[in-house]
Amino acid sequence: MTDLADRLASVDAAIADAAREAGRDAAELTRIVVTKFHPASLVRELAELGVRDVGENRHQEAVVKAGELADLDLRWHFVGQLQRNKARAVRAYASSVHSLDRAELADALDRAGEGAAPLDVFLELNLTDDPGRGGVAPAEVERLAAHVLTLPSLALRGVMAVAPLETEPRVAFARVRAASDRVRSIAPHASEISAGMSGDFREAILAGATHLRIGTAITGKRSTAG
Ligand SMILES: *Cc1c(COP(=O)(O)O)cnc(C)c1O
Repeated sequence: MTDLADRLASVDAAIADAAREAGRDAAELTRIVVTKFHPASLVRELAELGVRDVGENRHQEAVVKAGELADLDLRWHFVGQLQRNKARAVRAYASSVHSLDRAELADALDRAGEGAAPLDVFLELNLTDDPGRGGVAPAEVERLAAHVLTLPSLALRGVMAVAPLETEPRVAFARVRAASDRVRSIAPHASEISAGMSGDFREAILAGATHLRIGTAITGKRSTAG
C-alpha cells in the first residue's frame, strides 16, 4: 500500500471505531478529504482509492483543480471563506458550500443558481469571540436559517463549525449540537452537522457530526514539490 492509501485506511478505521462507540452507523457519515495545498495529482490518487467527496477552502485553487479533474466523478465541497463576487464561479463546480455565514452571501449564491440544481449549504458557526473569523454567531443562526429557507436555489442541510484551538472539542461540539437543534426547530430537514477535522473527528462523531472534513491525517503535510 502507498502511504496515502495507508493513511486513508487508518482514518476510515478510526471513523468506524468512533461510530461504533457512538452507537451510530458509519455508513451515515460522509468523509470529505480536504485537499487544499495539494496538487490535482493527489486528488486523482485519492479518487483511484475510492474517494468521492473532496474539500477545498480557497476558490482560486479549487477552480483550477476541479477543472483539471473534470473527468472524475467527484463532489467538491467548498469549506473556506467566500466573497460574494465568487458566488457564480463557485456554483459552477461545487456541490456544496459549508461556509455560508451571512445573508448577503446566501443571496448571491441563490441569484447565481437560477435554473440549476439546488446547492447544498451548511451555516458556518463562529465559536470564537473574534467576529473577524468566518461564521455566524450562534445566537444569530436561526435568523440566517430562516433567510436561507426563503431562497429557492439553496438547500439548507445543517450547520458547520471548526472547533477553536483553545476550546476542548467536546465542549465546542456540544455548542454545535445545540445550534443544530435550534436550526432544526425551524427547518426539521436541516439536520446535518459538518464538524470534525484531523485532530478531533472522533469527538465530532460522538457529538453527532454527519460530515467530517479531514485533511492532513489523510493527505499528509502540504506537498512542497507542487
Ligand atoms: C483545512 C480545513 C480542514 C481540514 O483540516 P485538517 O486539520 O488538515 O484535517 C477542515 N475544515 C476546514 C474549514 C479547513 O479549512
